[in-house]
Amino acid sequence: MKNIARRNFLKYTAASIGTASLITATHNINSASAREKNLTARVNNYADMSPDEAISELMNGNKRFVEQKSINPNQSRLRLAEVAEGQAPFACILTCSDSRVAPEIVFDRGLGDLFVVRDAGNIATSGEIGSLEYGVSVLGAKAIVVMGHKNCGAVQAAIKLGSTSGFIASIVNEILPAVEMAKEKDGELIQNTITANILLQKSKVQTSPIISQLVKENKVKIIGAYYDLETGKVDLVS
Ligand SMILES: [Zn+2]
Repeated sequence: MKNIARRNFLKYTAASIGTASLITATHNINSASAREKNLTARVNNYADMSPDEAISELMNGNKRFVEQKSINPNQSRLRLAEVAEGQAPFACILTCSDSRVAPEIVFDRGLGDLFVVRDAGNIATSGEIGSLEYGVSVLGAKAIVVMGHKNCGAVQAAIKLGSTSGFIASIVNEILPAVEMAKEKDGELIQNTITANILLQKSKVQTSPIISQLVKENKVKIIGAYYDLETGKVDLVS
């Protein structure tokens, strides 16, 4: 948010006062950015991470988790104090609220590492997409992972209930197109719907002009992922 305020300030400055003042203002802005960059680097060294490196970091963490070799990084009192000053998570995770799907645990990460957006069925509506926009454009995360999971209750509800009413409809209706897509495929309907839903919600995230611009500039990568509740393993879905 600070960056946006600064940009507006710069615009105002350019329009209303002279070039000398503009140079001074720009210098102040750059100094402030440098200070923030230093803070970010000190906090976690993620500033120069590429999108592919961010994804590798997640997958390596999941490998440790699956092999019961978690190292529980960034969970110390020191880390707590560090990130209290500012956050610069390296990845955003959009996943289900299911109590068995816990991003920091399954990716073996700690405080200030992941910007997590959760709801039943890992659906991407305006609130979730807005949160992800904040994660990548303001906080500087390098990757967005849209992660569904085995035996998802929200997906099962969408298959069972079909079109429904009440608050639950706001969840189920977002998953229904995935049910229809899955019906056209061979194999288990629930499994096919979970996969179709991951790809459907991922495509909705891609409709954000802010996010797609960052993807175009190779600053952010969006991937689909599937979490197996039984093995703890995360697999990429495309
Ligand atoms: Zn679920």
